Amino acid sequence: MCGIVGVFGTPYSFQEVYQGLLLLQHRGQDAAGILSFDFNDKNFHHYKDSGLVSDVFRPEILAGFSGQMSIAHTRYATVGPKEKNKSPIDAKRDIQPMTINYPHGIGMVHNGNIVNYFELKQHLLQDKRRHLFTNNDLEALLNILSDGLKEKQAGAHHFDLFQKAVKNLFDQAKGGFSVLGLLADQGLFAFRDPHGLRPLILGERRLTEEEKLAHPKHFGKSYCLASESNSLNFLGYDVIRDLAPGEILFIDQTGEIFSSVDYSKLKNIAPKSCMFEWVYFANPESVLEERSVYSTRLEFGKNLAGEIQALIDSGEIKPDLVVPIPETSRVAAISLSETLKIPYREVLIKNRYIQRSFILNTQESRKRAVQLKLTAIASEIKGKNILLLDDSIVRGTTSKRIIEMVKEAGANEVYFATTCPPIRYPCYYGVDFPDPNELVASNRTVALVAAYLGANKLIYLSESATKKSIDKEGLCMACINGCYPVDIASAKKFQDMRSLHRE
Ligand code: SF4
Repeated sequence: MCGIVGVFGTPYSFQEVYQGLLLLQHRGQDAAGILSFDFNDKNFHHYKDSGLVSDVFRPEILAGFSGQMSIAHTRYATVGPKEKNKSPIDAKRDIQPMTINYPHGIGMVHNGNIVNYFELKQHLLQDKRRHLFTNNDLEALLNILSDGLKEKQAGAHHFDLFQKAVKNLFDQAKGGFSVLGLLADQGLFAFRDPHGLRPLILGERRLTEEEKLAHPKHFGKSYCLASESNSLNFLGYDVIRDLAPGEILFIDQTGEIFSSVDYSKLKNIAPKSCMFEWVYFANPESVLEERSVYSTRLEFGKNLAGEIQALIDSGEIKPDLVVPIPETSRVAAISLSETLKIPYREVLIKNRYIQRSFILNTQESRKRAVQLKLTAIASEIKGKNILLLDDSIVRGTTSKRIIEMVKEAGANEVYFATTCPPIRYPCYYGVDFPDPNELVASNRTVALVAAYLGANKLIYLSESATKKSIDKEGLCMACINGCYPVDIASAKKFQDMRSLHRE
């Protein structure tokens, strides 16, 4: 999963995308990049590197940017070799934004994954004589778009040509993706895959007097598009709307917005927003598809309480404390505790200075790594029955170690609850769920997962309660129920790409 942000119409667009990117850091910590275009000197300005946003964009780097439109990306690599396993040259090559010089000069960023990337790569090489230089599927999208834009049609409107090129891309690329891009001297564009699997939100704000003075050819407004609304809010943009699934949007050099959705083509394609945004990825202050992430997580807690109350009533479990596993489950743990009328205690303390996982080879050192990230307050835990809450269980390794830690701190019984149903199937659309063999729930019953984790009881939020909490028609829940909205015929090659990442 990655974070993307783009700004059009202010002379400080590069500063805004930088700040917007800081607010999206939770979506990816591997690398960051910014591309701006300056209508005055007709030049792109581009910088990207491995690391956190604030480490990559030091003040002297930001000072080198100029431009009235910019796009930015923060990366979490889900395919191709992991950053730490690459040579510095390869690592840098796969970082976004990516650019191509023809036609016009195009720069792009994306959030998501293209399932049929290998087929597209072959097609581009054999049929179009286009060699791809990176392991990043964005480069395939960039080349397909460039190919579609190269035809000129006398008298045709620039948006008609652009739409045609993106529709051609939709016909070829299978997966979940949200894209932002710049066309040199033409404008900023955005599009979202036909199912709307990955989020993208549009906002606008009025320019300040200072901005108008600094940009004589201003349009009175600037626009921002971002993966999450928290970025737009922070930058002072009013949210206009989420881009519709399959929507193509273009803001041209005069500041006019063009947008279209080809409903005739999309009529058999159901919208499928990724439910994992509300479960785990999005920041609690964000609102996606008009559903507040914070309120949804409160609902997760309330609805889970209904399922847990039945176990309490039957005497199967007797929790003394509700304990969130920091950070994501905090909000749900509050409503879980309130509904069950069981005290909420933050007795697992996160060490805020340990940011990264370590490369550790022994069981003992991995255990120590969890203890470095989290500390259990034994005096509050000893002799009590602890109900731990986490957002989800993927591989189960961290959950297992946390349960061990709470037991070692003297807990009597440890129950483990999660605000997501069992994850039994891989994600091919941009979330880093490994192949099924590594998913703890893929071949185990709930009782067997509980035994593996060492929990006295394991309670998953049900699929129906998850849907009820998000309260939205058209959710992707393929990792839960195996119903994939986008063709995964190319999944085997995709899995090979992922294993490269995991080596
Ligand atoms: S498979 Fe799961 S993680 Fe992937 S897009 Fe669908 S809901 Fe989201």
